[in-house]
Amino acid sequence: MSTDRPIFHFDAGDLQLTASGLWLDGHRSRALSFVSHAHTDHLARHERSIATPMTARLAVLRKYADRFTRLNFDQDHPIEGSTRIRLLPAGHILGSAMLHATTPDGTLLYTGDFKLRPGLSAERARPCRADVLITETTFGLPAYRFPPRDSVIGELLELVRLALASNRQPVVLGYSLGKAQELIAILHQAGIRVTEHPHVKVFSDAYVEAGVALGERRLYDPSDFVGPLKKPFDERGVLVAPPQFARSKHLAEFDSPVTILASGWAMMPGSRFRYGVDHVLPLSDHADFDEIVELCEVVKPKVVFCTHGPREAVDHLRKIGIPAKPAEPDRQMSLFD
Ligand SMILES: [Zn+2]
Repeated sequence: MSTDRPIFHFDAGDLQLTASGLWLDGHRSRALSFVSHAHTDHLARHERSIATPMTARLAVLRKYADRFTRLNFDQDHPIEGSTRIRLLPAGHILGSAMLHATTPDGTLLYTGDFKLRPGLSAERARPCRADVLITETTFGLPAYRFPPRDSVIGELLELVRLALASNRQPVVLGYSLGKAQELIAILHQAGIRVTEHPHVKVFSDAYVEAGVALGERRLYDPSDFVGPLKKPFDERGVLVAPPQFARSKHLAEFDSPVTILASGWAMMPGSRFRYGVDHVLPLSDHADFDEIVELCEVVKPKVVFCTHGPREAVDHLRKIGIPAKPAEPDRQMSLFD
């Protein structure tokens, strides 16, 4: 049984479940919001947030001191409006969650940011059936099909080893929460020594506390890399740092560094120049076009609402028979917003 009213609606750019009043990744301060993960574009100072214990922990590290209702994955939780919710792993970063809601208006799955490919540092995504799917389509164009993960990792390790063998400093760049820890886990598994930037370390420590294997990590000290006291390459290993380090004055002082950025935007022509790095590798914590299609096949929704992505994503999904719509027609972002 379900009612005729819409299961969710938009209010001032935020998604809200109609029956319960629960906001989904509300951008402005709300009475009660689900927070899918701890990237800053999904955090706001709500009166109360619902999140996984890991997301709550990371949000507190980021100084978002909301009051949290901490829900483990698969825990059934009743809220207002005869609605029950449960969180499922989204595979985006550690603790990231999708929200499944059973409401008087039907069932809904909201993905937040997600990816289906398994990694070393986040739980594997586990979507489930729902009448309505709300999903991100950041890489929702057929042009965005990432190469197999193993070949991207192979390329990363080759670039790093080649740099070290030629006495050049490899600097691997990735977003400080999530991507950096995935890169460290990959390097650790390959037996390569890692030095990490302090902005990365604060999140790596939380990952290690939660049981993710990141191996031994040295903390970045500029005097280890430049000047009379600099350490030999085998002691420094690879430096893992946030993307903005590519333009730092510290890096400019390094002796012939090799900079490698890990980002889904590697699929865009000219990305190497845009980010000012030597190499860009398509290692993403978002789903590519095929994974978005695969998600729809698993969820089997009657309708798919697309958020966060190019307007054309809806057309491409409809072309292959997926009942897609823009989540908010007037606000759907273009690729370059
Ligand atoms: Zn994110």
